[in-house]
Amino acid sequence: MSDNPDVPYLLLTPGPITTSSSVKEAMLRDGCTWDDDYNAIVQEVRARLVRLATKESGYSAVLMQGSGTATVESVIGTALPPDGRLLVIANGVYGQRMAAIAEYLGVDHLLLDFGEQGDVDPSVVEQTLADDPAITHVAMVHCETNTGRLNPLEAVSRVVTEAGRCWVVDAMSSFGGIPMDIGELGIDFLISSANKCLQGVPGFGLVVARTATLHRLEGNARSLSLDLYDQWRCMTLNYGKWRFTSPTHVVRAFRQALDELDEEGGIAARNRRYAENHRVLISGMEELGFKSLLPEEARSPIITSFFNPDHPDFRFAEFYERLKGKGFVIYPGNVSEADCFRIGTIGHVFPDDYQRLLNAVRESIYW
Ligand SMILES: *Cc1c(COP(=O)(O)O)cnc(C)c1O
Repeated sequence: MSDNPDVPYLLLTPGPITTSSSVKEAMLRDGCTWDDDYNAIVQEVRARLVRLATKESGYSAVLMQGSGTATVESVIGTALPPDGRLLVIANGVYGQRMAAIAEYLGVDHLLLDFGEQGDVDPSVVEQTLADDPAITHVAMVHCETNTGRLNPLEAVSRVVTEAGRCWVVDAMSSFGGIPMDIGELGIDFLISSANKCLQGVPGFGLVVARTATLHRLEGNARSLSLDLYDQWRCMTLNYGKWRFTSPTHVVRAFRQALDELDEEGGIAARNRRYAENHRVLISGMEELGFKSLLPEEARSPIITSFFNPDHPDFRFAEFYERLKGKGFVIYPGNVSEADCFRIGTIGHVFPDDYQRLLNAVRESIYW
């Protein structure tokens, strides 16, 4: 641990991320969960999320208390009817987690696993759907935060929509940081959370879904707290009221975060900043002798995996503590087949911060 627990540090992790002071300050006020002023904020946030997700009409946003995983669980547990069958496309921890959720909930499913370092091949998805007409829903992670790989969303969207299946995308770590239009892509359920590229604090997840599809979900849920249909119905009929205690401070902070996204110039501008953060990071780390796990074309501007240096004296924990002492928190790796650490480039962080990080990395090389 750092000697001084008050030393502030930037979170260069994939969520929670570093937030602005103004986002944190928006929480310095108590809110009532059923008061009209507060519910108006909820309604405003829901409408703005739909506009960020698509230019098309016919979509609605639902907010769900808990971590991002709770929201994924609410979608899988509510979108699939009792006789539904889910195809889970995976190439990492978060894809596999969707299959684990289906397993827990007793949702009939098939796992199509391309391996932690594998590319999702749209033609294999197409063949799988052709071979198994019982599949009603397909789910995939957009940016696999496990490795930092960006999956081919457009190509897979084409395959899934042409096959007429319901399309669920975990865009947890990409929505707000990578431009996409879920109407154009034919996505039925887009899942994300407050505390990643939208730069809010943790406390709830969000779903933007086709309104016509939401109408059909009554009675599907395998969990009371995670009943996406009932949450949507309550929020819609009661003008922004959550069914159970809502994370009021977090929602206020989130509205401020959405204001700051607009001020930045929207998702396209934010994407350019993240891409520049990523470019500065990669070129500097390569200069220092680090190698990234993924080839260039597979990398995302969200998070990057680097191989641990191949040196007998290297210990990640020591490296981590040194960087933390200099004001930067990085993320351990989570790839079973490769020894890695990860550095995120999302949040209220800027190219200058990565220049300072690179100096800190240079000074922290002790092996
Ligand atoms: C962060 C993340 C999640 C959810 O994580 P929580 O820790 O439950 O908030 C799910 N999928 C992806 C791709 C993520 O990056």
